[in-house]
Amino acid sequence: MKKRIIVVGGGFGGLSAAAHLAHQGWDVTLLEKNDQVGGRARVWKTDGFTFDMGPSWYLMPEVFEEFFRTFGVERSSYYDIYRLDPYYRVFFSPEEKVDISADRAAVERVFDQLEPGGAEKLRRYLAQAEYKYNVAMGEFLYKEYRNIFQFLNRRLMTEGLKLNVFSKLDNFVERYFKDRRAKQILEYAMVFLGSSPKNAPALYSIMSHVDLNLGVYFPHGGMTSLVGGLSKLLTELGVTVELNAPVDQILVEDGKAVGVRSRGDSVRSDAVLVNADYPWAEMNLLQPEHRTYSAKYWNGRVLAPTMFIVYLGLNRKLPQLVHHNLYFTDPWDDHFADIFDRPRWPETFSYYISCASFDDPTVAPADHENLFFLVPVAAGLDDTDEIRAEYYERVLSHFEQLIGERVRDSIVVSRIYSHRDFSADYNAFAGSALGLSHTLGQTAVFRPSHRSKKVDRLFYSGQYTHPGVGVPMTFISSKIISEAVTRELA
Ligand SMILES: Cc1cc2nc3c(=O)[nH]c(=O)nc-3n(C[C@H](O)[C@H](O)[C@H](O)COP(=O)(O)OP(=O)(O)OC[C@H]3O[C@@H](n4cnc5c(N)ncnc54)[C@H](O)[C@@H]3O)c2cc1C
Repeated sequence: MKKRIIVVGGGFGGLSAAAHLAHQGWDVTLLEKNDQVGGRARVWKTDGFTFDMGPSWYLMPEVFEEFFRTFGVERSSYYDIYRLDPYYRVFFSPEEKVDISADRAAVERVFDQLEPGGAEKLRRYLAQAEYKYNVAMGEFLYKEYRNIFQFLNRRLMTEGLKLNVFSKLDNFVERYFKDRRAKQILEYAMVFLGSSPKNAPALYSIMSHVDLNLGVYFPHGGMTSLVGGLSKLLTELGVTVELNAPVDQILVEDGKAVGVRSRGDSVRSDAVLVNADYPWAEMNLLQPEHRTYSAKYWNGRVLAPTMFIVYLGLNRKLPQLVHHNLYFTDPWDDHFADIFDRPRWPETFSYYISCASFDDPTVAPADHENLFFLVPVAAGLDDTDEIRAEYYERVLSHFEQLIGERVRDSIVVSRIYSHRDFSADYNAFAGSALGLSHTLGQTAVFRPSHRSKKVDRLFYSGQYTHPGVGVPMTFISSKIISEAVTRELA
């Protein structure tokens, strides 16, 4: 008889864990509260448009290649990807924009224009980023940390300074570049990690290796194709997936997780792995004596920003855009301060515009544009209809100014998504899109543990746990913990 494990939640952390566990011999049942899997990577289909609701940057492709090879299959049998070119366009103002392309020589020319000696500085910057990335992948990311001594190991102690674990990214980039625009290109990815460049360890300069060296890809059909590929794999591996199946209690007997309650029924198992948002799950699915972390602990964490999102379908094309577009305000410190230091809706803001229909014809009707605007904002703010309407206007007005063209007469589909949707749809803590920020105090051993410290056979995977936020990271998180679960319990 196979041992049975229940996975609570079908985000990438739950789907990828379910695949590993089934492959390792477990009888796996995955229970998802919503009517589709994918979690924050759900999809919204309407009027011929297919909107990826969450992630849109397919980064670190080798993580996904390696994931599928674990099961003796190739990723290409599940979904196709293509490399974007340009990787992204950065608008600094209506008059000034640069393309960061897949052609390295062209990117070096951009940096030379931004700052004297920019190309040479970029080469040196990327060389150190690549070195750190390789050390991080080889030594730190794929490890479960159960105590601080595993983190403060010999490599970290001897190389911590070289890896810039203890310095801040903003100061580090400043050592190479003086130009504001060059620095913004090398620091913007901190928002992907839910951090500000002023607070993130300089170790995270690895993100520039991730976008500029490893490249920016996209699955044909959108990120939802990755979800579809995973679902197909789970079917082949014999995983039972139940939708519209919210879990409302983790059953604990004699200090062990023995199943869950969902839709009024008890479902017994030998272990439980939770992918649902960690703070919500601990505070709502467990009795107080079974919680590893208190409400005070969660309230004391540095939360990553959440996202004010506008999904927009246009009945015509916008030639000013490429697939990924970023606008960086000058200076951008106020926006970061409005997220992390004095949480409030920002006066001035940087934002991201996805235009997947630029090169993927499947996501919008012919000659239409599939846009999604994303403004990072502090978690836990009031999210009223009035504020939404005001921000919608502000984002749209700014965008029209930026591209020098009116778009509101061409809108055929629009939807706003923010704090209260994240809470209602995913049980997100404080309406957070990304969970915990990546400060040094919330990195590796300092992130919430992959396993309960109070209840045996209760495990966690997903963006709250090490290595953290981002689609590839959730795949790594689930690999770490599923291997440990099988080693110890199978
Ligand atoms: C708008 C946005 C843009 C992003 N952009 C990128 C990007 O471009 N690239 C990138 O790499 N990353 C990006 N990210 C981050 C990335 O999407 C997340 O880190 C990742 O998807 C989180 O996966 P997860 O499995 O940890 O959580 P989730 O995706 O939230 O999965 C948790 C699942 O648990 C379910 N659940 C909750 N409660 C229950 C319950 N009681 N019972 C059953 N199920 C339950 C939820 O419905 C959900 O399906 C973005 C995130 C957002 C929100």
